[in-house]
Amino acid sequence: MDQIIIENLQVYAYHGVYREEREKGQHFYINAALETNTTLAGTLDDLELSTNYGEVCRFLDGFMKTHTYQLIETVAEKAAEGILLQFPKIRRLTLEIRKPEAPVRLPFESISVKIMRGWHRAYLSGGSNMGDRKRHLEEAIEALRADDKCRVLRVSDLIDTKPYGGVEQDLFLNCAMEIETLYTPEMLLEKLHEIEQAHGRERQIHWGPRTLDLDILLYEGCIMAAEDLTIPHIDMHNRCFVLEPLKQIAPYAEHPVLHKSVCQMYEELPEAERSQDIDCLRRLP
Ligand code: ADP
Ligand code: MG
Repeated sequence: MDQIIIENLQVYAYHGVYREEREKGQHFYINAALETNTTLAGTLDDLELSTNYGEVCRFLDGFMKTHTYQLIETVAEKAAEGILLQFPKIRRLTLEIRKPEAPVRLPFESISVKIMRGWHRAYLSGGSNMGDRKRHLEEAIEALRADDKCRVLRVSDLIDTKPYGGVEQDLFLNCAMEIETLYTPEMLLEKLHEIEQAHGRERQIHWGPRTLDLDILLYEGCIMAAEDLTIPHIDMHNRCFVLEPLKQIAPYAEHPVLHKSVCQMYEELPEAERSQDIDCLRRLP
């Protein structure tokens, strides 16, 4: 990815653990590498198609001066998030906050914190089989859209599917979503749980009826198996109600463990699974 690079932007600001640092202030220097595709702007010689580095510098200057944090880790974290939210063409950035006057009573040149942050593409599944199923799913999508750290890019049809896992219950309504997010996988799961809870989700019977179920299917190329979060979703390749809607919006997305596309996983489902009565309810705009 192309980069726009800012080197040693100097800002006088008031961050630090010691009171003196927060009262007297000191110089900070900022390095940033902004990842963005400059092809179109470069070809057409048009600033509107690029990111104005002057504006990014002014943003950083204003941000550094109007906040006071103890840690440069926090300065970097919040400033990176601010840039990603404010300048939509920047996909990722490396940001370094340097503090050469840090109160260390030893000879040194500079201390800095350097982080990389960016938008991550993820695929989610939604399901409901209690109450107004369509409303639950649509409101879940709206709740994601309303969160500035998520951008909902595509939503599949909402499809009627048979329940899975052997518990006798009503038909499900399922969908898949493609999003971009600034959240880490753990933070995204927390956000999904919040939305589920706002819809009266109670975790009672495993694989039982639910007002709303939101799962993370894929999160970029991430592979993880923590106690409460497995990515890719541990059973996605066996579930027609996941693969059918996902195939509509991301047929070639790859499962990073099985190295198979969504299409391929769908084709490999047992015939009986695939030929189940799936009814397309409606296409979201
Ligand atoms: P299911 O989605 O399998 O029907 P639940 O929604 O009740 O079941 O999820 C049970 C737990 O699964 C959640 O509390 C969550 O911590 C865990 N989990 C593990 N991996 C994932 C994932 N990829 N997406 C969502 N939940 C996950
Ligand atoms: Mg779930």
